[in-house]
Amino acid sequence: MLFQARTLTEMMDSQTVRVALPVPLPRLFDYLVPESIDALSAGDRVLVPFGSRELVGIVVQPDARSSLPRDALKSVGALLGPNEIPDELLNLLLWTVRYYASPIGELVTLGLPPALRRKQPFKLPAAEWLQLTEQGRESTFSRAPKRQSLQQALVARSPRSRSELLDEGVSAHLLRSMLQAGLIEPADRPASPARTGPELNEEQKSAVDAITESINRFTAYLLAGVTGSGKTEVYLQAARPLVQRGQQVLFLLPEIGLTTQTVRRIEQRLGQPAWIYHSDLSEGERLATWQAARSGRARVLIGTRSALFLPLKTAAMIVVDEEHDSSYKQFDGVRYNARDGAVMRARALDIPIVLGSATPALESVANADQGRYRLLELTKRVTDLALPQWRLEDTRGDHSEAGLTPALIERIRDRIDAGEQVLVYRNRRGYAPILMCNECGWQADCNHCSAHLTMHHSSRTLRCHHCGYVQALPSRCPSCHAPDLHAGGSGTERVEERLARLIPEAPLIRVDRDQVQQRDQFEKIIDQLSAGQPCIIIGTQMIAKGHHWPGIGLAIVLDADQSLFSADFRGPERLAQTLYQVSGRAGRARPGEFVLQTRQPDHPFIQRLMETDYLSSARWLLDERAAAGLPPVTALAMVRAEARQATQAQAFLKRIAADLATSQVQVSGPLPALLQRRAGYWRYQLWLTSASRADLMAVTQRLPEHISQGKAPSNLRWHIDVDPLEV
Ligand code: ADP
Ligand code: ZN
Ligand code: ZN
Repeated sequence: MLFQARTLTEMMDSQTVRVALPVPLPRLFDYLVPESIDALSAGDRVLVPFGSRELVGIVVQPDARSSLPRDALKSVGALLGPNEIPDELLNLLLWTVRYYASPIGELVTLGLPPALRRKQPFKLPAAEWLQLTEQGRESTFSRAPKRQSLQQALVARSPRSRSELLDEGVSAHLLRSMLQAGLIEPADRPASPARTGPELNEEQKSAVDAITESINRFTAYLLAGVTGSGKTEVYLQAARPLVQRGQQVLFLLPEIGLTTQTVRRIEQRLGQPAWIYHSDLSEGERLATWQAARSGRARVLIGTRSALFLPLKTAAMIVVDEEHDSSYKQFDGVRYNARDGAVMRARALDIPIVLGSATPALESVANADQGRYRLLELTKRVTDLALPQWRLEDTRGDHSEAGLTPALIERIRDRIDAGEQVLVYRNRRGYAPILMCNECGWQADCNHCSAHLTMHHSSRTLRCHHCGYVQALPSRCPSCHAPDLHAGGSGTERVEERLARLIPEAPLIRVDRDQVQQRDQFEKIIDQLSAGQPCIIIGTQMIAKGHHWPGIGLAIVLDADQSLFSADFRGPERLAQTLYQVSGRAGRARPGEFVLQTRQPDHPFIQRLMETDYLSSARWLLDERAAAGLPPVTALAMVRAEARQATQAQAFLKRIAADLATSQVQVSGPLPALLQRRAGYWRYQLWLTSASRADLMAVTQRLPEHISQGKAPSNLRWHIDVDPLEV
């Protein structure tokens, strides 16, 4: 009896916690805290039994009242990391999964680096930089000559890198034994002392002053600076005093911006090692950065969108460079936008955030115009050089291959002869977007997608850029067997081939995803271009952004019309951004020129772009959006469904639309997605809009549970996308 009574009290007393687990269910899971664990609190990383498995999860509510009978509850298996996720970060994660209508358990995936999502403790790779400990410095090794000579080497210069020491003949065994004996220890990679940057111009100075005013308090700044106006210099000078007093600054960069060049520049100016975080890093490297961020040891953090969720101990400022870039939006899983999340985070931390771009997103321009962000403008280039001259090339009636008109070739040749570089932008990779038969009208289409196959010349293939399908290039028409097939339109490969023939003397560099697959390949090209030798660079979006290549005198956009008439309501915004970004590559060290090819020279938007600057064009587009009831004036979310049968996806969405008929949001659809069929799946979507973001959120947050209760057919995939960037 006595025994039983005691157990009962103990059970009554024992803590019940609610844990987030990486499973696709819209809820948390309750566990008892066993006697072996003192107590658990929010943010603890735990191992729990789940069905027949064990999962790593995060404690979200440490004092839950479970609705389940206690004997139905299992106990937490182990406490793996006490206080792993600080409160502030846990709140951000909770906001993110809620705002983006995602299963709450996804916060585990967002919040932990891969190494901490596994139950086995992860061994950090051997530290690359080493220094003596106090004990190591004070010991005398008269009987251990090897130890002695390493000691002397580290007294002479410290820290030293492991690879350098190994090269000098120090054995790995010696390093290990001295580490174990506490004589040497891992050290941070040394940074060169902070170098002073250029003297800022007046506009830059007032931007830095404005940012510095709100140190220790939240303000969101939109730094709208024309290309080459020295935005990065503004971030760096604003960050420098913060880093010097030991605080942390987080830099978010789009995928493409995160090159060694950028990292080195930030390091040199801030005089601190930069810690990198992005998904191409090894698990060990990611863990190392994550831990250094959490401890506060890392003061300068640079990463892509996932770095938004690094734990920060002494955060003082966040910078989001090229804030308009769509790579800040995650396109699967939790569809968050790291820029918007960063603003939330800065607000919670009560620190300034700087969103920088030459071509800010319409959302950000609207926020600035409504006073939510403070607009800082840099209207001039640092070099005193004017922005490049824009020139329209009317290509109506032109039949030049790949759009390379004689006039254009002439211009390119002149620039090359003058020792300059030329940038040619074409937003399509491959040789030709269409292959067809002029005899019978056959076209090479993907059997799995509603899209043409793209012809690739060098690999002699037809490829689907949507599902990855590949087949050999047919030599005759598969339908009527006519011997000649016609390649319609042009991609980067064709532009390159044509240029090689027309201007054989100019070195050509092609940059697209077929040609450049690895980060270090791209870095070589960046270095090569920075060196400034005359050449023609042909590429897709990859070359349009952020790069500073002073050698470029002429930038060209071949055939801009596609995005002008895109069915995506963001088409004109993207076009404006691309044009300003591409044109901005030219004329950084010499007067530059920009050529825009179009068959619609009188189109009102093209005219507007020619007459005004980016911000005025953006405001004009904002008025159009408002008139059409589109974001950012209206809040938008989509429910997307895809299934092997179109009717299935449609019926599913119709049912949801009917359920939402009485809600506060407007529902349109089901409408086909821009790419109606992909990889065998028919894709439809519902548009949910509301003038009130809060009303829309109230609906999107209830939807996942509502949908899972209604049991979606198992062969149908669905998701909700809040603030979608794609239609
Ligand atoms: P953005 O980020 O606007 O493209 P950057 O900050 O990268 O521009 O500046 C472009 C180049 O101009 C860099 O090489 C930078 O060092 C240099 N620069 C920036 N500000 C100044 C300045 N005030 N005076 C001289 N050079 C500058
Ligand atoms: Zn396909
Ligand atoms: Zn044919």
